[in-house]
Amino acid sequence: MTQVLVFFEELGAELSISQQELLTLAGQLGEISVVTTSAEPSPALAVQGIGSVYAPQADVPPGDPALADLLAEAAAQAAPDLVLGADTADATDALARLAVRLEAGLITSAESIEGTTVTKSVLAGAYTTSAQPVGGPLIATLRPNSVPAAVQPGSLPQITTLPVSPSGAVELLEETELPSTGRPALSEARVVVAGGRGVEGDFSLVEQLADELGGAVGASRAATDAGWIDHSAQVGQTGVIVSPQLYISVGISGAVQQKAGMQTSGTIVAINKDEDAPVFEIADFGIVGDLTEVIPQAIEELRARRQS
Ligand SMILES: Cc1cc2nc3c(=O)[nH]c(=O)nc-3n(C[C@H](O)[C@H](O)[C@H](O)COP(=O)(O)OP(=O)(O)OC[C@H]3O[C@@H](n4cnc5c(N)ncnc54)[C@H](O)[C@@H]3O)c2cc1C
Repeated sequence: MTQVLVFFEELGAELSISQQELLTLAGQLGEISVVTTSAEPSPALAVQGIGSVYAPQADVPPGDPALADLLAEAAAQAAPDLVLGADTADATDALARLAVRLEAGLITSAESIEGTTVTKSVLAGAYTTSAQPVGGPLIATLRPNSVPAAVQPGSLPQITTLPVSPSGAVELLEETELPSTGRPALSEARVVVAGGRGVEGDFSLVEQLADELGGAVGASRAATDAGWIDHSAQVGQTGVIVSPQLYISVGISGAVQQKAGMQTSGTIVAINKDEDAPVFEIADFGIVGDLTEVIPQAIEELRARRQS
């Protein structure tokens, strides 16, 4: 049976959607074991299908070179055919270090994995490629929203403590929880409503539409550079890459660098007053109109449908 080792670079009281997606895919591919950076894995790991959990002797912080030791020790125990992690900077960093240790490759932002064949889009979403490892296990990160999450609660799996401690090279001085917006994280949201220069500094309609749909708020670089919204909201080549089920582009022209971050979304709706805007080339549904007229009508219609 194929052995799949799943890396969780952080573990809260509940599994994130990305972590649930990783476990769902891992379960489809083979037997699951999990390696976590927390010495005391949380009850969130009580999920059907996880055979075993590997943990360090003490919590290992992100960026610590000891993560390579942790992953290598876990790989030595689990003998995985596949090692999967979330598509985050921290997980990619740690898995790249493991790949060097195992003389294997690392494929980031996978969109699907069948057997050991990974499919992902490249060159700003213009091409889809398939790749397979040559020797060594397949090590890959999974792009959020690539697999519908379907995990069932189970009993807490057996935990094996590995002889790995933090190296001391990285010290976590302080952890500050950011104030919650009540919205899902941009990178893993199923719905994203993004605003561009067309909102002319006022994101309130974009936020209202996002809240109506339970989605996250994104932005073009023109909007973040103008200081209308935090840079963390930027979608695109030099921002966050998203692949939600629904992406609503509002007052964004659709430059190639913006497309690179949202082109693989399931359904793309574009609202733009210029019928020749490039975003319409990739939109599934296009609305030519002024966003200040279109969004209030969309919100009104959504509310009416919810009540009926
Ligand atoms: C190296 C590099 C990296 C980059 N990385 C990114 C990136 O990661 N993400 C990103 O987004 N960009 C990125 N850019 C910038 C990118 O090239 C564009 O400049 C940017 O995306 C434009 O943002 P925009 O579409 O909001 O603005 P504009 O191109 O100015 O478009 C505004 C749109 O709003 C429409 N509009 C105006 N008013 C209304 C209204 N009332 N109702 C409806 N529509 C309206 C207009 O018709 C227009 O189409 C990058 C550029 C470079 C060079």
